Amino acid sequence: MSKNQALLLDRDGVINVDNGYVGTIDRFTFMPNVFPFLRTARDYGYRLAILTNQAGVARGYYSKEDFEALTEHMLNVMKKESIEIEFVLACFEHDEGTDPAYARQSFWRKPKPGMVLEAVRRLNADPERSAFLGDRLTDMQAAEKGGIGHRLLLTQDLPEVPAGVEVVKTYDEVLDLLNYF
Ligand SMILES: [Mg+2]
Repeated sequence: MSKNQALLLDRDGVINVDNGYVGTIDRFTFMPNVFPFLRTARDYGYRLAILTNQAGVARGYYSKEDFEALTEHMLNVMKKESIEIEFVLACFEHDEGTDPAYARQSFWRKPKPGMVLEAVRRLNADPERSAFLGDRLTDMQAAEKGGIGHRLLLTQDLPEVPAGVEVVKTYDEVLDLLNYF
């Protein structure tokens, strides 16, 4: 059985505007043009999943229930836009957290690859032919350690780009690349 191609997506700064610790619906705004981008990626055959660090829970800025309500809202809106997201993985832990339930290190927290490995397993994805789109170097590091063949950094400024990372400025640039993976 041939394996799936996956497009793994960071959330803040990729799906929604990164307002910093976005944990509630009132602070959540979709990025402009994200819906047609995701529909097209799906049309290309990529299965979509979202992988997000949510240390705001460990830090007590918002609760796991807030996050889950926000996720339900996000997925409902996307469904109405005909976008199928397979699942959302989130890491609530942080070793400097104030909530003792989540104040610890986690293999799921990017730049560690736990969420990437879990997503690849759940999707039965071919990691070499899959892509990760994120807006931070920690996303790229998690993707690399998780064996993802195509690592795309969505950013407007050009940081020092590590080897093996493609910088993209727009969703259209991402789609151009996805055609060839
Ligand atoms: Mg981000």
